[in-house]
Amino acid sequence: MEYCLNCGSGVSGRFRRVFGDNNNRVNACLECASFRELQAGGAVSVAPVVQRDGR
Ligand SMILES: [Zn+2]
Repeated sequence: MEYCLNCGSGVSGRFRRVFGDNNNRVNACLECASFRELQAGGAVSVAPVVQRDGR
C-alpha cells in the first residue's frame, strides 16, 4: 500500500498509476482533493488547487 503524500490516506496502485507522477507518487487523493482537482493534475504537483487546510 502506498500513501497520499498530502494527507497520508492509503491509495491503490491503480490510483497511483492514473493520477500519480512518474514515480507513481500522489500528492493528493480523493480524501483530500476532489476528483476534478485530481483530473486537473492536483495529485502530481503540490499545486494550490489541493491546498485547503490554510497552509
Ligand atoms: Zn490525500
